[in-house]
Amino acid sequence: MNRTDIFFQTKFLKSAFSIQDLPDDIGSEVSFCGRSNSGKSSVLNALTGNKKLAKISKTPGRTQSMNIFSLDPSLQKRIVDLPGYGFARVSKSMRRDWGQVIGQYLKIRKSLKGIVVIMDIRHPFMDSDLNLISWSNENNIPLKILFNKADKFPKNKTIEQVVKGNHVLKKLKVFGKIQVFSSKNLTGLDEFKESLSSWF
Ligand code: GDP
Repeated sequence: MNRTDIFFQTKFLKSAFSIQDLPDDIGSEVSFCGRSNSGKSSVLNALTGNKKLAKISKTPGRTQSMNIFSLDPSLQKRIVDLPGYGFARVSKSMRRDWGQVIGQYLKIRKSLKGIVVIMDIRHPFMDSDLNLISWSNENNIPLKILFNKADKFPKNKTIEQVVKGNHVLKKLKVFGKIQVFSSKNLTGLDEFKESLSSWF
């Protein structure tokens, strides 16, 4: 772990259950989004080198909240862990609420520099991912796409999967970049850090 990188001192700040609960809309904010089980928490752990951080997002009652992490004590750089979507056990009305809060968040948040969409490389671009991608597009929010769990995917098929993914993005007229990642063996971590730093 490089102790000088901007992610090293990341701390949990608070959970927000509505837009009003969010911290002041200043500085730079980056959101993490993805289906439940895509590895969103593990990516946050890998990025910050802190295995305890993601536990916060798994605490009962916080799985449906926006969990805010601050990279610096002055709260100028933040990561917002958005609630995981597409979870079969979540009711339809809950999904609707999720959509409303996130939709509103994407529209009004001035400090939002971009969204990281985390997907399992084996099952990318499910409907809920595509919804989020089109919302971001409509609101002109830059995207980074993380193909996580690369360690579980045949190495010789990885490039093919990225090429296919790029086609999907092109069709959607999205200019986001796909990065191959593994929270388990930290494949792609340096590249991801570098690319995220450019947003902060
Ligand atoms: P979340 O629900 O999106 O926050 O997902 P989690 O971070 O809790 O991960 C879901 C499951 O996938 C857990 O069992 C993780 O250990 C596993 N997981 C996450 N990332 C990776 C990865 O890159 N490789 C492998 N092999 N497993 C992963």
